Amino acid sequence: MVCSWVGRGLPGLGLGGAVTDEKEVSRQLQWQRRNEAMGLCVICGKEPIHRAKRCEVHWEKNREAARLRYEKRVSERKLAQEENQQ
Ligand SMILES: [Zn+2]
Repeated sequence: MVCSWVGRGLPGLGLGGAVTDEKEVSRQLQWQRRNEAMGLCVICGKEPIHRAKRCEVHWEKNREAARLRYEKRVSERKLAQEENQQ
């Protein structure tokens, strides 16, 4: 499976221009790791849904993002196929 994050930079980190605040980043990471260790939503710290590392809200968002990524991939592939057929 190809990792779709590769080549896109890290999510949540500002790209270009502004200097990244390392303290802010590590605090965010600490928060995420703490929540993960406690079995809570890694984003907001609320009670996660069954077998997920996210609460219902963030799980839905994650799923939606994954769906959009998938649909984009599929439509790109379709376009490529149509181009080959012409
Ligand atoms: Zn959440």
